[in-house]
Amino acid sequence: MKIDLTGHTAVVTGGTSGIGLATASLFLDAGANVAICGRDQGRLDDATAALTADHSDRPFLAVPCDVLDKDSVAKFTETTVEHFGGVDTLINNAGQARVSKYEDTSDEAWREELDLKFFSVLHPSRAFQPHLEKSDKAAIACTSSLIARQPEPHVVATSAARAGQLSLIHSMARELAPKNIRVNSILIGVVESAQWQRRYDALPDGKPAYDDWLKEQAVAKGIPLGRFGKPEEAARALFFLGTPLSSYTTGSTIDLSGGLSRHVG
Ligand code: NDP
Repeated sequence: MKIDLTGHTAVVTGGTSGIGLATASLFLDAGANVAICGRDQGRLDDATAALTADHSDRPFLAVPCDVLDKDSVAKFTETTVEHFGGVDTLINNAGQARVSKYEDTSDEAWREELDLKFFSVLHPSRAFQPHLEKSDKAAIACTSSLIARQPEPHVVATSAARAGQLSLIHSMARELAPKNIRVNSILIGVVESAQWQRRYDALPDGKPAYDDWLKEQAVAKGIPLGRFGKPEEAARALFFLGTPLSSYTTGSTIDLSGGLSRHVG
């Protein structure tokens, strides 16, 4: 099946790296207008170079924006709508995990993590909603994590925050359905990305090669498929949820955990 998204505008938060970058690339492949954001100008420049090298003919925008800063998100929204005339898909992807256990997570760290997981969805969703309401293909797709349903002790605050975030996403799906905005999410186990590269880089000397280390991590985590996911595998699920390919789906999740998920239902 081929989908032509000419005239369709997709916004990807955290589109400068990993899953977000791969998602932006898929929307460009399908002919959509794409706007991405991230905080770091160097990463925005690198992503722009990578995406426009493959899609030089496609309308594309890269805007510096911190999704936790309401004014910054308002500006990103305004710039995108001025440029493309509207928005059809919002991919709420920006974020990162916090590695810490119950014993060593400070009050401040808890607040930061709850802030990130809630407002990375709330700020862009609220800002883009009036424009999504004008689309007949409106969809919000969020990158979430399996730990929302299956908490891991070494990421205690992220697990709890993801559970709350997933509850929010499901509530939004119910409330926005009458406005014809579908809201869904993907639940990732582990996907190769800059997050994992950073964890590898922080290891002391004497570490194995990166690919070997990834394989070791996958085995240690007991991932049934025996490997981490690739950003493009997560991107394909976000693309499905963010386009009319999933036109009768809202308030749902897609599992991308390589079989790591152990819960039923
Ligand atoms: P990357 O680190 O490769 O990408 C994260 C992206 O988010 C970057 O573009 C980063 O750019 C951006 N970002 C982070 N914080 C903000 C912010 N406050 N405002 C705007 N942009 C921001 O990681 P992944 O691709 O792995 O992560 C994508 C999403 O998937 C994240 O929400 C992550 O938590 C989630 N996830 C990933 C898993 C994995 O195994 N990879 C597992 C479960 C969930 P910049 O730093 O320049 O702002």
